[in-house]
Amino acid sequence: MGKLIVANWKLNPLTVLEAQHLAEAISEVSPHRVVLCPPTPFLTVVKYSLLGAQDVFWKAKGPFTGQVSPAMLQNLGVKYAIIGHSERRSLGETSQEVREKAAAALEYNITPIVCVGHGTTVEQDELEVVDVLRQQLDDSLVGLPAEKIVVAYEPVWAIGSGKAATPDHAEKIGIFVQTKYQIKTVLYGGSVNDTNSASFLAQPHVGGLLVGTASLRPDEFNRIIA
Ligand code: PEP
Repeated sequence: MGKLIVANWKLNPLTVLEAQHLAEAISEVSPHRVVLCPPTPFLTVVKYSLLGAQDVFWKAKGPFTGQVSPAMLQNLGVKYAIIGHSERRSLGETSQEVREKAAAALEYNITPIVCVGHGTTVEQDELEVVDVLRQQLDDSLVGLPAEKIVVAYEPVWAIGSGKAATPDHAEKIGIFVQTKYQIKTVLYGGSVNDTNSASFLAQPHVGGLLVGTASLRPDEFNRIIA
């Protein structure tokens, strides 16, 4: 069975035309389920079979300037939402907020991709990593239906650094998250490219990939999803 591969475009590209060209260049044919997550202003102009948002607010409507409503995303046909990315947590987003956002997404039939991760250096002790993940997951998932949630494990040091974790480490974390939290799909993210993607996807407990930088390079991303 195919896995889940999510493209996180972050704050790229800058224009509608570039966003449309990028999406057009991504193959719709893959053995995997492929989701493109463009910036919010491009969600209406990018054409691709599965779209995701990069964030979602916990309220659908009201006096919340600048927020992204789960109801509006649902109306646009958005099926996934990345929630609690470390780049948002570093701006102050808490696991309690992540939980509220995931609950709201579920209410509108949007699958939350709850991001967790830890470590500013590759030398971080695995037990320490698991301790922090446990805290993040306990707080982010409490009371939510595990079977409807995707978790993305991204070591902070690996994001955008060009240095990925080992597939073996990703597999160990995948086993931990699946067995302790009953999460069916655990993604790995952090400097995935077309050289290392296959070895991550070959791990039985790595349910797919969250890809940042390489998802902006269509030829490379097409090789990843192939
Ligand atoms: C990400 O944005 O979640 C990510 C993993 O980025 P990169 O692939 O560039 O490390």
